[in-house]
Amino acid sequence: MSSLGKIPWPLLREQARSATSRSYAPYSHVTVGAAGYTSNGEIITGSNIENASYGLTLCAECSLISALIGQGGGRLVAVAIVAGDGEPIAPCGRCRQLLFEHGGAELLVDAGETAAPHTLGALLPEAFGPSDLGVRRTP
Ligand SMILES: [Zn+2]
Repeated sequence: MSSLGKIPWPLLREQARSATSRSYAPYSHVTVGAAGYTSNGEIITGSNIENASYGLTLCAECSLISALIGQGGGRLVAVAIVAGDGEPIAPCGRCRQLLFEHGGAELLVDAGETAAPHTLGALLPEAFGPSDLGVRRTP
C-alpha cells in the first residue's frame, strides 16, 4: 500500500477545505469537507448535507463515500476531514464505520499539519467489517 511520503496531504487538506464551501449546513452552521485519496491516486471529495429532521443529515464522509462509489469505486488510503475553520475535525462513529468499509484499518486519517495521521484502526478498534459477515452467517 502507499507510504506516508506518497500521500499528498497538503492537496488533500486544500480539497477538504474547498469542499466546505459546498456544504449545506443551514441548521448547525458547521460546514465540513472531506477529501479522500484512493489507491488509484484519485482524490474524491464530499461535503456535509444537513436536513431539517436533523437525524437524516449526511456527514461529509457520507458524501465522499457516495462519490467514491459513484465514480467507479476504489480503495481509500488517506482522508482529510476539516470544518469550515479549516482545521481537522474527527469523523463521527457512523463515519468511522463507513470509512472502514472502503479503507480498512490501515486508512490514514489526517490529524493536522503538525501531528502524525491516525490509522482508522486506532479510531475504530476491533471494527466489524465485511469479513465478519462471511464467517458469522447462520447456516
Ligand atoms: Zn459522520
